[in-house]
Amino acid sequence: MADRACSGETHLFFPPPAERPRSRFKREASARAVCQSCPVLLECRTYARIHHEHGFWGGETEEQRVQAGFVPAHPVGASRLSAAV
Ligand code: SF4
Repeated sequence: MADRACSGETHLFFPPPAERPRSRFKREASARAVCQSCPVLLECRTYARIHHEHGFWGGETEEQRVQAGFVPAHPVGASRLSAAV
């Protein structure tokens, strides 16, 4: 946690209520840019996959975790997720 690059950037990693697709795309692109410089990216990605986390973690969206076989307990955008698997 001490080494994370996203400190103070929570708004980039979790969607606000009723986020529209274009806003989500832009938010996740910004989050991905932060993750690319993070020294704990792989540890973060593994943690999110194992714990079925919501939001953007370790450079991955929820959809990407689903595609990797790690489904969140209550997925956001369930219709998009079902299309991804
Ligand atoms: S890899 Fe994880 S800890 Fe690092 S910036 Fe991304 S979400 Fe934060």
